[in-house]
Amino acid sequence: MADQCLFCRIVQREIPATLVAETEDCVAFRDISPQAPVHVLIVPNKPIPTVNDVSDEDERTLGHMFIVARDLAKKEGIAENGFRLIINCNKHGGQVVYHLHMHLLGGHALGPMLSGGAHG
Ligand code: AMP
Repeated sequence: MADQCLFCRIVQREIPATLVAETEDCVAFRDISPQAPVHVLIVPNKPIPTVNDVSDEDERTLGHMFIVARDLAKKEGIAENGFRLIINCNKHGGQVVYHLHMHLLGGHALGPMLSGGAHG
């Protein structure tokens, strides 16, 4: 469907992506513009637009995304040194794709949590 978001189309395999994991409830694929040696996006099949739209019934799916992140961090060899998980929400959070997703980043020291910038 033309009105489906980018990640819906990846979930449905209408757009190619480099998949690194696939479960009943989510897919994980490499970010097209990696910000670290390992940069994977963990995306629920359910098209929840933002964290603001999460409902109580999504609890299991969201917990499952952490399990996938844990397993992928191990598989990608970044578990021991460490990594960062990020979920951006809306404009101030820097969200670009409005289908909730978790970034798994690692492979070198990632520096301070925020890059800085003006308040407001
Ligand atoms: P966010 O800013 O949290 O919405 O992150 C969206 C992410 O999606 C960015 O890191 C993009 O590089 C990534 N992205 C956009 N299009 C694609 C694509 N076709 N395949 C993989 N990653 C993508």
